This record gives sequence, structure tokens and C-alpha cells, in this order.
Amino acid sequence: MSASAAGSPQRRVRVRLAPSPTGYIHVGTARNALYNWAFARQHGGDFILRIEDTDTERSEEEWVEGILAGLRWIGTDWDEGPYRQSERREHYEGALDTLWDAGRIYACDCTRDEVLARTKGNAIPGYDGHCRGRELERGPGRALRFAVSQEGTTVVHDLVRGDVEFSNSTIEDFVVAKSNGDALFVLAVVVDDREMRISHVIRSEEHLPTTPKAVLLWEALGTATGDRLELPAFAHLPLLVNDKRQKISKRRGDRVALEDYEALGYLPEAMDNYLSLLGWTPPGGEEFFTVADLVRDFRLEAVNHSPAFFDDRRLLHYNGIYIRNLATSEFSRRVQEWAARTADHLGADCYDTPAWEALAPLVQERVATLSEVPSYVEFLFAKPFAVDKESYEKAIARDEEALSILSEAREGYGALGSWTAAELKAVLEAVAERHGRKLGKAQAPVRVATLGRSVGLPLFESLEVLGREETVARIEAVRARSAG
Ligand code: GLU
Ligand code: ZN
Repeated sequence: MSASAAGSPQRRVRVRLAPSPTGYIHVGTARNALYNWAFARQHGGDFILRIEDTDTERSEEEWVEGILAGLRWIGTDWDEGPYRQSERREHYEGALDTLWDAGRIYACDCTRDEVLARTKGNAIPGYDGHCRGRELERGPGRALRFAVSQEGTTVVHDLVRGDVEFSNSTIEDFVVAKSNGDALFVLAVVVDDREMRISHVIRSEEHLPTTPKAVLLWEALGTATGDRLELPAFAHLPLLVNDKRQKISKRRGDRVALEDYEALGYLPEAMDNYLSLLGWTPPGGEEFFTVADLVRDFRLEAVNHSPAFFDDRRLLHYNGIYIRNLATSEFSRRVQEWAARTADHLGADCYDTPAWEALAPLVQERVATLSEVPSYVEFLFAKPFAVDKESYEKAIARDEEALSILSEAREGYGALGSWTAAELKAVLEAVAERHGRKLGKAQAPVRVATLGRSVGLPLFESLEVLGREETVARIEAVRARSAG
């Protein structure tokens, strides 16, 4: 093997993200995308997108679109691709022919059961090389296996983990083409990485066990073709685990799909910041940074190899901070964009009104995701306006003084000279005093009657925006309903 661990210094940096179209982008894939992209940008290299769809029955364009949209959302633009493995079959067949002609692969007609029966109880699991000397012809019903020399070791130079050594005797003669002739993933990846001149393979840890096979194939193809391309440097990125230290997965109930976070109203810059921390820390230990900082400071050598805890509560916390740091006009724009994208039930147009603008600063302080916004402004925009049953029971039906408080509030509000939060408050303070209550206690029935719920934005600012006519009408409606 000729390659050095980090690759030669003058080598052009070309990295790739090679997602399988599984229907959504996993947050781990998004993290990998960020690292690959940042590495490419830092070195003025290329970030290549390759869809590994060899195992999908038919091409799933919708899934591919989802991947592209997710990558755009987190800001990882690519320079080449998307290539599709399903469109590159002849390249894999060519490689199989080359390896066959060079005597590096052989045909095998063993069934799985036969292999199992022969190897049961073997110290080293896996295929036993049964067909290696049989000189079977290639053909339907016969898989192709790579003949692994049993001597020596294969070393994977990993920029994150250091040298990882695999004894060749533990590597079975692995299958490179199925009995129907289809090339296997392990071969396709090597062929693609060679042809695409990939300099660094930066991917998830779960691919580390197959990497020695890739190294062997790389070397065999180099020898057989005479095109001894330098092996890429490898960097295997840590797994993402949940609070039980299990690999996060949709099946376990972890929220792993990037688009779910987008739909919930996470900001891409918060996502980028948080995801970047899953395996890496800036040299100064900063917890908050931009993708520009990532591009400047990211180092593969600084990536941690132990599993990274994907803490969605911490992510939520990050998102809240990012939301509060937005200029209010920008917050407002993001909400509008989000509402349009997710077909928010209030209708995206309501966020383009003076009423929303007046409330936006109050909402911004209170939400950690954009999807929490509608619940704060439903009182203003939901058609028809409805009073929450439980809040009504608690704050009005079960409060003996609620009706008189509502009457007095309605009267005071009807007579107000100007309609400002301060005056609205003064009126209710007077009502509270007459009833010997704290202001908060007197607010409760008014809040439920006008805003529909017992929690939400500050009452008087909200009523100022709601306006006199609507406020008085709502109080009156609830009063009449309770009295009747
Ligand atoms: N298709 C693989 C995945 O989605 C990536 C393989 C690779 O990066 O070499 O995990
Ligand atoms: Zn066999």
C-alpha cells in the first residue's frame, strides 16, 4: 500500500457525501455533510454528492429530492452530483471484469446453508474459501468473491482513530457481486471513490469494519489496471447515541429526521451549530459559532472518536437562543417563511400584518421553536375564535366573582378614552381592588374570555392589539353565555 495517512499535501481535496435514499435525512448524515462540506470549503476543494441507491428496487426520486432539500436547508451546497450509483452499473461491471481477468475474484455457487453447514463451529466465522480453487466459470447463479490473502494485516489509517489493524486471516473472501450479477455496495463505493478521485473518505463509524475490504479492493484495482491511485485518507466519525447510549434510530422513537426539525421550526443555523458539536469542539471551546467558524477551524484530527450524545433538549435550548438573537424583523420573516412552508393552520398571511408585528417581540421572547408561534397568536388570527373549555371551567365557571369581574371590565373598557396597555391595566387594577384580589387573579377570567386560554402573551399588550370592539364583544359573549 502506497498511501500515507493524511494523503500527500498537494493532493486536491475531494470529499463526498454518499447517502442512501431511505426516505429522510438522518441527523447523523447531516452532521457528516457539515463536516465534509466544511473540510472541502476550508481546503478550496470539492464536495461531491453521490446517492448510493444500489440497494433500492427502483429509483426513488422523491427521496432523492428530500435529501437535496435537507442539504440545502443546512447550507451544504455541493460542487458535483448528485451522482447515482444506479446509473453507474457499467462502471462496476467493468471493475468486476478487470478483477476477474486479473484472477483476484472467483465464482462461487455455494448456498448460504451450505456455507453455514461447513463453517459451523469454526473459530473464525465467515466463508471458508471453498470455491477458491474450483475454477468455476462466471455465470448466473454464481456470486463473485474476492480472494483475500490470508497472510499479513490490512491497516486502515484513520485520521480520527489512528491506525486500525485488521488481521487478514479474519477477513473472509467477501462477495463483490451477487449471484444475479449485481455488484455489491463495497465494490461500488471503491469504484466510485477511485473514479471520482476522492481524497478523504469522511463517514460514519459503522463503515469502519468494511474499510479493510475497501482497502484491499482499492489496491487490487490499482494493480490490475495499472492506475495506482492514491488511497483516500479515512476519517470515521462517531456514532450519535441517545441518553441510553444506544445508536439513535427512528425505530427506537428518537427524532432523527432532519425534515422533522425543519417542520418543527428549528433554525438551520442552530441545527448547524448543534450538529457540528457532535464529535468536534472548536479549538477555543466555544459553544456558539457559525458555519464560517466551522469552515475556518474544523480539523479532522480534532474529531472525537467516542460516541456523541444527541441531546434533543440541548438542541431545543440552542434553537431558543438562536431565535431570541434574531432581529425582530428577521424573526418575523422566518415565521412567515416557516408558516408558508408548513401550511400553518392560521395561514401564512397573518404574519404579514401590523397586528403580528406588534406582537412579534413578545412572542419571540417566549418560543424555542417556530412551531410554538401559532399557539400564541391564535387568539388574534384563528377563525372562529374559540375559548378553551378547560380554561373556561377553571377561570370562569368555577369562580363566583368571574361574572361581575367581566361586567366591570367590559364597562371600564367601553368607557376608556384611549386604548393602550397601560390604561387597560389601570382599569383592571381598579376592578381587582374592588374585589380584594391581586391583579393576576382578576386577570384570569378576562384573559380566558378574550384570549381564549389561561396562558399566553401578556394580557394588556394583547388586548391593545386585539382592539376595543373585539375585546368588549368577547367579554360580552362569555358573560352572556355564563349568565344564561
Ligand atoms: N451509503 C452509506 C450510508 O448512507 C455511506 C457509505 C460511505 O460513505 O462510504 O451510510
Ligand atoms: Zn463457494
